[in-house]
Amino acid sequence: MEATIFNRPIAEGVESDLLSYLRSNLDEVCGKIAEKYGVYTANGKARKAHVLDVLTRYTCPGCVVKALMQMRGRPEVDAIFRENHDLAVSLLIQALRNLSNGGLDVNGEVSCEFGKLDVLVKKLNGGLLQVQAGSHELIVEIKTNMSFGLKQALRYLIEKPDATAIIWRVRKRQILVIDGRKHRWLLIAYVAAALQQGLTILNEDFTTCDHDFTDKPFEVNDPQGFLDDFLTSLIDGLPKVMNTVMQLLERKNEDALGSV
Ligand SMILES: [Zn+2]
Repeated sequence: MEATIFNRPIAEGVESDLLSYLRSNLDEVCGKIAEKYGVYTANGKARKAHVLDVLTRYTCPGCVVKALMQMRGRPEVDAIFRENHDLAVSLLIQALRNLSNGGLDVNGEVSCEFGKLDVLVKKLNGGLLQVQAGSHELIVEIKTNMSFGLKQALRYLIEKPDATAIIWRVRKRQILVIDGRKHRWLLIAYVAAALQQGLTILNEDFTTCDHDFTDKPFEVNDPQGFLDDFLTSLIDGLPKVMNTVMQLLERKNEDALGSV
């Protein structure tokens, strides 16, 4: 394979420095964009996660601005998605707490700079391993409809690049794993792309577009079928996700021990 910036061997630690440098720039740019377009929470906090989401959702800068301006009129999500999601999060959290018998710190809806984590799992005890506490964090992103959640996972990983993200697509009966340590360059490319788009917006270095821009509310066609399918696949998937979490934690422990 031809050597490019993305596969060239580099000195250890350089990519971590680069990622944190880009991330702090992105953080600042997202903050400034939030200020410019008045994108704040009810408590007056800049909604950087929303800004980053919009920056990476549209390649057209004109559409990014439209999305930022119409924030208050965001499409309403059918409560069936939110409540199913809350149920899945709380069942998984309680099951993991129960399984680990106090050995794991498991929390839900954890706020980070660029969004909220559905479930964050940290290993609590283990002497030597605690020194590397950052390296065995797991996050679980739960998708209750057919969407994938890759961008949410990436948003979390740019903040916690040594963590592993698990995407549980309940109704697809899929459990997917992204190890942030294996995809450092992807995270850097993702942050760099968002940063570039952010600077374009901030510097108003674009012309307005006439793309049709309507985010339509997403409704469920067959709520009964949807609910039946969701509840069945939830109970089917729960032990599998728990198994994946425990296996990954064990593997990460071995990695940590092996590298000493
Ligand atoms: Zn556009």
